[in-house]
Amino acid sequence: MKRATLFVLCSALLSPPLFAESVPEVGIARLDCGTTSGPSDVARFSDTYAYDGFKVQLTYSCYLIKHGDEYLVWDAGQPDDGSPRAPKKNLVKLLGELGIKPEQVNYLGISHYHGDHIGQSPLLPDSTLLIGTGDWDALTSNPPRPGVNPEPVKHWISGGGKVETVMGDKDIFGDGTVVMLGMPGHTPGHSSLLVKLKEKGNVLISGDQAHFHENYEHERVPTFNTNRADTLASFDRFKRIAENVDATVIIQHDARDIDKLPAFPQMAR
Ligand SMILES: [Zn+2]
Repeated sequence: MKRATLFVLCSALLSPPLFAESVPEVGIARLDCGTTSGPSDVARFSDTYAYDGFKVQLTYSCYLIKHGDEYLVWDAGQPDDGSPRAPKKNLVKLLGELGIKPEQVNYLGISHYHGDHIGQSPLLPDSTLLIGTGDWDALTSNPPRPGVNPEPVKHWISGGGKVETVMGDKDIFGDGTVVMLGMPGHTPGHSSLLVKLKEKGNVLISGDQAHFHENYEHERVPTFNTNRADTLASFDRFKRIAENVDATVIIQHDARDIDKLPAFPQMAR
């Protein structure tokens, strides 16, 4: 064997195995996506009158998911409109603090069409919108369905941005590390998100499957909800997945879950 051939063979054997390259590093950071003044009376979060004067500190959370050099922003929070609930720093500013430009965000994944989840979508016009088919249908029906305001995503509705509607689940980067999970009921195309991290383990992000711990624990359904039976079936699926993959469950609107991820700008990996 020639020395050059031997060298090539040896370096091939010594180089890291192929799978190390094919599974890029995955990370997640919480982005603060709205302002709350204090604990809220949560009576309207139960359609069976479970709460009488009970208050919970709610929050508005978006997430940045890094997959190698690709990025997904999960939910777009409250609009950046100067209202009392507007975020103190908008998504562009927060991403900037992480050294990321809006045009680097490949995907904007939306859990559901409610205004506190799509508010800052216009700030990420170059991102491919990922949204449950049922929610996309509600946003694009003419006239829009009652309680649905398509304004923040009109850029995508008018054909200005790329849209991928999701029926059921979607393995976003194709390697099983970040999966959008169909959890219909809160809205017709509502989704949650599973993120598999090397060090922290699996993380399951709720969307609005539940808005706070007590509703999650007792599987309570809000008064503002499109299909009660579907929401209960989605609770069953969500909890089975959480148990089977031993996931850290993060309820996006519950301020008690903010600490389940490192404080911004740090990322769980
Ligand atoms: Zn909602």
